[in-house]
Amino acid sequence: MVKLQKMGVHTPQDLIFHLPLRYQDKTRITPISELQHGEPALILGQVESASVNYGRRRSLVVTLGDESGLILLRFFHFNYAQQQGFRTGCWVQAFGEPRYSLRSVDMVHPEYRVSDQPPDNIINTALSPLYPATEGVAPAKIAKLVAQAREQYGHDLVDLLPDKIRAEHNLMALETALETIHNPLPDEDTEALLQARHPAQKRLALEEMLAHHLALCQMRKRRISTAAPQINVPGASWNKLHDGLPFKLTHAQSVVISEIFADLKRAHPAIRLVQGDVGSGKTIVAAAAALNVIDAGYQVAMMAPTELLAEQHKKTFFEWFDPLNIGIESLSGKMPAASRRNSLQRIADGSAQFVVGTHALFQRQVLFQNIGLLIIDEQHRFGVDQRLALRQKGENAAVIPHQLIMSATPIPRSMAMILYADLDISSIDELPPGRKPVKTVVMQASRRIEVAMRIRAVCGAGQQAYWVCPLIEESDKLQAQAAATVYEELTLMLPEFKIELIHGRLKSKVKEEIMSAFKNADIDLLVSTTVIEVGVDVPNASLMVIENAERLGLAQLHQLRGRVGRGKDQAFCVLLYETPLGDMAKSRLSILRETNDGFAIARKDLENRGPGELMGTRQTGLQNMKIADLQRDQHLIPMIENISCYLNQNCAAVIPRIIERWINHADQYGDV
Ligand code: ADP
Ligand code: MG
Repeated sequence: MVKLQKMGVHTPQDLIFHLPLRYQDKTRITPISELQHGEPALILGQVESASVNYGRRRSLVVTLGDESGLILLRFFHFNYAQQQGFRTGCWVQAFGEPRYSLRSVDMVHPEYRVSDQPPDNIINTALSPLYPATEGVAPAKIAKLVAQAREQYGHDLVDLLPDKIRAEHNLMALETALETIHNPLPDEDTEALLQARHPAQKRLALEEMLAHHLALCQMRKRRISTAAPQINVPGASWNKLHDGLPFKLTHAQSVVISEIFADLKRAHPAIRLVQGDVGSGKTIVAAAAALNVIDAGYQVAMMAPTELLAEQHKKTFFEWFDPLNIGIESLSGKMPAASRRNSLQRIADGSAQFVVGTHALFQRQVLFQNIGLLIIDEQHRFGVDQRLALRQKGENAAVIPHQLIMSATPIPRSMAMILYADLDISSIDELPPGRKPVKTVVMQASRRIEVAMRIRAVCGAGQQAYWVCPLIEESDKLQAQAAATVYEELTLMLPEFKIELIHGRLKSKVKEEIMSAFKNADIDLLVSTTVIEVGVDVPNASLMVIENAERLGLAQLHQLRGRVGRGKDQAFCVLLYETPLGDMAKSRLSILRETNDGFAIARKDLENRGPGELMGTRQTGLQNMKIADLQRDQHLIPMIENISCYLNQNCAAVIPRIIERWINHADQYGDV
């Protein structure tokens, strides 16, 4: 069954653990007047009429009525006998998805059963599982295969969680849980099952999250059993840079730097995630790590999610490292062939000691002479899959490099246990002193003239401003167009200022020139798309206007807002929204007005939109869960730490079996 293998089903055990995604409730009859658009339901009524319609498409239309109302059952494929079956006055039970239109409520191709008398039993007495289907295998077929596998192999299935653990955490036995989930009985708690809060679902979700946690822990164990460059810290270069800095490191920065130094001193590859709010000063922390590795004779690569940010890092690091005689190189996807060849050469022969670039650093042609540290900036823009690609890149090398991952989008510690159990985590939980929190106002977009006047005041006083035009479409082209329109409008309104437009479709060289002109204050107002979202650092910019703020996530708005408030002046952020705006959306935006704490904002985003949204949809680890939902099931996470600890100490042998049961061979932790 190639098709089954495609969905990761290779063995009977995989089939038994092919769990229903949802349930259909065919156990109760819903009065026609109470049907909800799009929500599948079972109805019971009598045929009022049945006729064939010859409209655009020939169809059989059956009008069915109960005491509360009327509904139309529509069939586009039907035979004569079917048509004859719907005699006026007959009783029909039908299950389907109601669709409301202006004139009627319809069900297209419902499942149904006709009888002459009022039926004394309804179609089903228990919930019907809905299995994740795959192309070419009908859901009913899957249900049948699952049932067969359970019958033949079910009794060989061992509950891998020790009795003691099950008793302690009040967990249902595996067999009972599977039975309930695949074959719910009529007297089962239907509501709980439908909402995925049934003890059976809880038991399996817990085991699944445990499996992911254990798999990551194993990866970590394997990692620390391999060799990495051992680095002496602190080296002379870092001391020199540190002493010459125009500011004093915050306590939080010093703590995190010493955590990183401790990693580097060990002879095993470290992977550390550094979380710190926008503006908390992650770049200098990265520089501290990099300098020590370079002093020890290894290369360092730093990857940024956008060209703009890579360019900016190149400048910053050049200012810091060039006086120390450290060779800096950059690499991006859009480089002319000749300079690219040149870069690759310098990376390969080791004369490039510090290499900064975009994801172009992943490409196979990029060969380092001896890489000792990889820094990934703004990790939330890279999916888990890319994290793995990098790891693999390291695995091919003679020594495995250390890794440092910087992120301004924190995830709660509990979730990190499941998603990042393979990483060590540090937090920069303090901003440099003297920062005034950005003042945020929320306004209707129709007040843009007022906003333009605000820009006049700010830029007239020698400060700079951003005007961001995001579009929800992930299309560079549409984004660029929207920004271009606003650019023209603002140029007319504010002729006395130098205004520039920047977006993702410009040539890298042009983008670079614009950004460096903005940094030099040769540009007063920068109209842009969300290309400036992460990392851009221009302290003299003190006003940011964001259009269509209602369309962006809170974490993203916070990131954007973080582009201002980096200097000594009081900074402002104006969030413009289009009307009408729902109450939900209004209260979402007001969160930004109330707090500047990125961690608090991320928590809100998590509550509202779930971790997938927060961290980007490409989180393969989240998508691949069969039954657990990190958001819904987060209350189970604390148990996992406890259970994992117990297993390690008392029955480590079951660990690989738990992993194997839940995580596919060819899956993300493929090398587990
Ligand atoms: P982020 O954490 O958002 O990457 P950056 O590293 O870009 O923040 O730092 C933001 C700004 O703060 C930069 O201009 C940087 O030079 C400055 N900065 C960093 N650390 C300190 C500090 N301890 N005191 C004052 N300014 C600092
Ligand atoms: Mg940064």
